[in-house]
Amino acid sequence: MDKEKRTEISNLGEFGLIDMISEDIKTNHSSSIKGIGDDAAVIGEGDDLRVVTTDLLLEGVHFDLSFTPLKHLGFKAVAVNVSDVAAMNAIPTQVTVGIGLSSRFSVEAVKELYEGIKLAATHYNVDIVGGDTTSSRAGLVISITAIGEVKKSAISYRSGAKVNDIICATGDLGAAFIGLQILEREKQVFLSNPNMQPDLEKYPYITGRQLKPDARMDIIHEFKEMGLVPTSMIDVSDGLASELFHICKASDVGVAIYEDKLPIDKQTFDTAVELNLDPITCVLNGGEDYELLFTINQDDFKKLEKHPDIHFIGHVTEKDSGKYLVTKSGTAVELKAQGWVHF
Ligand SMILES: [Mg+2]
Repeated sequence: MDKEKRTEISNLGEFGLIDMISEDIKTNHSSSIKGIGDDAAVIGEGDDLRVVTTDLLLEGVHFDLSFTPLKHLGFKAVAVNVSDVAAMNAIPTQVTVGIGLSSRFSVEAVKELYEGIKLAATHYNVDIVGGDTTSSRAGLVISITAIGEVKKSAISYRSGAKVNDIICATGDLGAAFIGLQILEREKQVFLSNPNMQPDLEKYPYITGRQLKPDARMDIIHEFKEMGLVPTSMIDVSDGLASELFHICKASDVGVAIYEDKLPIDKQTFDTAVELNLDPITCVLNGGEDYELLFTINQDDFKKLEKHPDIHFIGHVTEKDSGKYLVTKSGTAVELKAQGWVHF
């Protein structure tokens, strides 16, 4: 390696880094059906396939223990993995749990963390089938791998979106990001004056969305019952714009979404305004909502038309038409994706 050359990871960004790592990784087994580049890998033979996904959560990067209860953290660590399984239209079945602990954690603390993990395992009906524990010098590390089942014909890849498909989003967006801003603000208030108690009661919904997200397995089970397979799907972990970019890139298409169709909760909207943030920017670029973003063929619209928690936010266009947000005044604004900026 050229000793003079040093490229900062921040120059590549998250997606550039993943592209670089995966560039010359080839798969050699016929059972490796889908490798890097979707919410989960797909493996197996025949019609009954498995999906596999891993997520890493680091103290100080993904969570702050000064305002995150350990039980919630344990639940969230499982939920974010289940969310990636859901994004493949698969049903989660097992998880393995890897934990790195520093000496400041007591046995009671580990018990509390595992209570959350076990609660999530029950909630999503997954078995905890293994893992590893080790000591850590850099705070708490949680790495969970989730496995799920799916029929070959039911998989929703990011790459299946077709021109004129309808773009759908579940739930509401931006809440987890705004919730995090409130939690961080109250932490600063507390640090500067420990006699001040955090004022969180005013914001139960958005702080809950940050601290205890729920993967949308309810929607996946409904799809199964109604025999609907989204043409493409991804979960919203990094923000709507970023997820739309992934679908566009994988499917070789463009998108048009409409500002007045974007699902935003009232508390999210009001708190964004209170914090001098643009609510739409929070919906587009705020992460960690763990809702599902998917596309459907227009023929399937009737099946979802009356669903109370699915929103039709736009449609898929030709690649050359680009990626646009149409504002309430009818102006088309080009979408920009950011991804996370931890580096
Ligand atoms: Mg994902």
